Amino acid sequence: GYVANSSMIRRMFEAGIELRKKYGADKVYDFSLGNPDLPPPPEVKQALETIAARADRPFALGYMPNAGYPALREKLAVHLSKEQNVTVPASHVIMTCGAAGGINVFFRAVLEAGDEVICPAPYFVEYGFYAGNHRGRLIPVPSKDFTFELDLDALEKAFTAKTRAVILNTPNNPTGQIYTRAELTRFAEIIAAMEKKYNRTIYVVSDEPYRFLNFDNVELPGTFELFPHSVVIGSYSKNLSLAGERLGYIAVSPKIEGGDELVAALTICNRILGFVNAPALAQQILEVCMEAQVDLEIYRARRTAMAKILTDAGVEFNMPRGAFYFFPKSPVADDRQFVDALLKECILAVPGCGFGGPGYVRLAFCVDAKVIEGAAEGMKRAVASLKK
Ligand code: PLP
Repeated sequence: GYVANSSMIRRMFEAGIELRKKYGADKVYDFSLGNPDLPPPPEVKQALETIAARADRPFALGYMPNAGYPALREKLAVHLSKEQNVTVPASHVIMTCGAAGGINVFFRAVLEAGDEVICPAPYFVEYGFYAGNHRGRLIPVPSKDFTFELDLDALEKAFTAKTRAVILNTPNNPTGQIYTRAELTRFAEIIAAMEKKYNRTIYVVSDEPYRFLNFDNVELPGTFELFPHSVVIGSYSKNLSLAGERLGYIAVSPKIEGGDELVAALTICNRILGFVNAPALAQQILEVCMEAQVDLEIYRARRTAMAKILTDAGVEFNMPRGAFYFFPKSPVADDRQFVDALLKECILAVPGCGFGGPGYVRLAFCVDAKVIEGAAEGMKRAVASLKK
């Protein structure tokens, strides 16, 4: 079933290979993947040179405690305390193999068979697999049409006696939406009421790999400020362009009762799921690059360029406030038909139905500006072909 269901993204991947062979790589406009193309910031190269110079010492890249290097956790706790507006102790920070590893570790630690995880849709499709890996069930709840703000009434109705967690992703993949303090505050009230009603803890898992990609400098409230029973999952895949190095973290809210027990469970799960610890090399890089990041201005300029080609082609969209995705409306009800029309123009997009958002498509703009400009005419032709 998993193989059959992942056919959409595989199809795009295979179509991309075929089209590149046939027309040449520069004639293919690939917006299908969220793999950041910007090189890591220069601080990463400097860090690697320093690490290389001491790599001949014993244990230079050996095992460390399962939760990560203690000095790094201290440093990250200081950073997160500022970001989250709440003091986070180093003992509540666990280094993980990317956000993906972090979410799996969290689900392994807290889910019992049949537990439900509520998630606003559209959503990062891997969440369903991650919940399933640990005998949980993802319950997607559609967000408001077109704006993709939280539909709080629908979310409230989705809670049951089996709800154990809610997964939030802001800035959002695939919609680019950033939830407001007002929306999140109201959602926190609903969750608190549901905890009372069902007499159980309901965790908020805030998946924040795109926190730094906030183009209009809107407020991104601290998760720990708003949700007492929460964990923040972070990643260095996007802000340091280290996606292949697999580094992320879980930070546990200092307000969780029994937080130390949860931290201990997460640390054991990091070990017994076979991650053992987050990569030593990436952790050592992070220790000196915590305040570095890729150039936000480049992504901002691409957002402007992408908005222009969509507007010129007559495609309706909500301007993404963050992350590096557009989630425009398909000109026809069936988003796969739009994706096929784009494919004929060598433009690769992913149908929204793959993210629980039918009627839309996802375009990732972590690609060179030339790719965006090059797709302009094809985009117009694809839209025109559907309006005939
Ligand atoms: N969460 C979201 C919303 C993502 O978009 C991604 C990657 O694209 C991940 C998690 C996984 O990130 P990582 O590479 O840190 O595992």
